[in-house]
Amino acid sequence: MFLILIFLLGIAIGSFLNVLIDRLPAEEKITGRSRCDHCKKKLSWYDLVPIFSYFYLGAKCRYCGKKFSFIYPVVEFVTGVMFVLVIVWANQTGQYSMPGKTERIGEALLTLHNQTLMLVALLGIVSVSVVIFFADFKYQIIPDSVQLALFAFSFLYLVTQGITPAKFLNQIVSAFLVMTPILLLFLITKGKAMGFGDVKLAFSLGFLLGTLAGLMALYIGFVAGATIGLILITLKMKKLRSKIAFGPFLIIGMLSALFYKIQLVQILRSFYSF
Ligand SMILES: [Zn+2]
Repeated sequence: MFLILIFLLGIAIGSFLNVLIDRLPAEEKITGRSRCDHCKKKLSWYDLVPIFSYFYLGAKCRYCGKKFSFIYPVVEFVTGVMFVLVIVWANQTGQYSMPGKTERIGEALLTLHNQTLMLVALLGIVSVSVVIFFADFKYQIIPDSVQLALFAFSFLYLVTQGITPAKFLNQIVSAFLVMTPILLLFLITKGKAMGFGDVKLAFSLGFLLGTLAGLMALYIGFVAGATIGLILITLKMKKLRSKIAFGPFLIIGMLSALFYKIQLVQILRSFYSF
């Protein structure tokens, strides 16, 4: 029951993330009701019920019949699923205990103790990840405001893990270390292989994860990027030189390293036998 509520919260947030994904790269205001991209007609609340409206309207605008992108419900669904996974993960790793039947759900959600703050930070990181993933995928842009939000949520997460000033400095050093390979690639290829947005993203990644997990995240990002790139080239969907956004792969690497660090180390160990 609690997880269903979390899922519904996730798809509602996902609906808002869709707005950010489309409007931040275009530098539009994020307030104001959504309009149809095509006929510009304002959509009413019943056209905007997450996931449900998309299928109820047959994936097209009620007024002009233009198809809506399938990415909208995908973002909502993915956000819902990730919210649930975060709660389950935190519960399994003993960092958060789900409210039992006797506890009131509202109480657990609203009391601002450390556990709740940690969950807010993690759900924030996941939400920001969704925006970066899809904004970069759709428009090849990672808005600065979202980069800043990732850094802020990462900081909040580290605070809930009891970060000391010394450890904070440590994380900053990690941030620079993890950023360096991406910065070099950016400089050597003159921004062709990756943009400066990827450099900034790598900085936050190192700050959040530390040096080892941060480099592991880069590694996963490169492997995932190369794999998808090769598949696309084989399928002739992308020409060899055409640009594939790298941000989504960094995000995949970051989330894997954040939630599955221990398992990943084991896999890499057995793979490279060290
Ligand atoms: Zn329309």
